[in-house]
Amino acid sequence: MHGSRISFSVCLALATALATGAFAQMPQQQPSSKSFKLGSFVIVALHDAEFVRPNDNTIFGVGHSPEEVRDVLKAAGASTDTITLSVDALLVEEPKKLILIDTGVGGALQQSLAQAGFKPEDVTDVLITHSHPDHVGGLLKDGKLAFPKATIRMSSLEWDFAKTNDQLADVVKTIEGHVKTFEPGAEVVTGITSVSLKGHTPGHVGYEMVSDKEKLFDIGDTVHSSIISLVRPDWPLGFDTDATIGEETRIQTLKKLAASKELIFAPHFPFPGVGHIQSDGDHFKWVPAS
Ligand SMILES: [Zn+2]
Repeated sequence: MHGSRISFSVCLALATALATGAFAQMPQQQPSSKSFKLGSFVIVALHDAEFVRPNDNTIFGVGHSPEEVRDVLKAAGASTDTITLSVDALLVEEPKKLILIDTGVGGALQQSLAQAGFKPEDVTDVLITHSHPDHVGGLLKDGKLAFPKATIRMSSLEWDFAKTNDQLADVVKTIEGHVKTFEPGAEVVTGITSVSLKGHTPGHVGYEMVSDKEKLFDIGDTVHSSIISLVRPDWPLGFDTDATIGEETRIQTLKKLAASKELIFAPHFPFPGVGHIQSDGDHFKWVPAS
């Protein structure tokens, strides 16, 4: 309960800050796009925003002290007063479809898409991992559908969750006639299968892409900081709706990813957020793809 309140107010503060440009710690949002091949698919990581949080235990290391968090950051050679998270999305170019996975908070994503050579009306499907504002905020532009020709896909549990969220009332009302839900485990579009990763939100999913035996797994918000989430995956996270299930899912998923060595995309890891999870003693570390 408590976790969801924190998560919500923080996400909202982020969305509002970006909308008004009044967030002192928020650097100007610069567009960026990076593409690579996955079998016969072309994948493009799209940058949306940069999110800087003070090290104050409201999000990372809930129930611990800023000193404990500082030690983890320091050991990784990172800044110890603030924690920076990237906000990114993924574009998948298939022969007949152009699929966007998550939409950012409404930062530079549209410019990043243009940089990659596409228009918003080219997008045929928008796949949502979960309904937090930094993933669904970019669904609207000037109060209208930002991707006017796209079918919007999310798990049925997540759509139910979004509809109970008063702060998303405008988004829900605008997208309602364009949403098509699915049950986790379903192949949502050709070559992209949803995977239940509950805890962060009730209907949170990841998306596994497969083309010509090459694989990429968008793990959504299973992890947030490429340092803290991997060194201390057991620390409660203020963003999680259910901290206990969130922790279980995080640890189980990281173990699986370290064993399978598969290529993943993590929307909040340093852009472009593509790489591998590696075991490192009793915890994990991030290995960005070259
Ligand atoms: Zn997020």
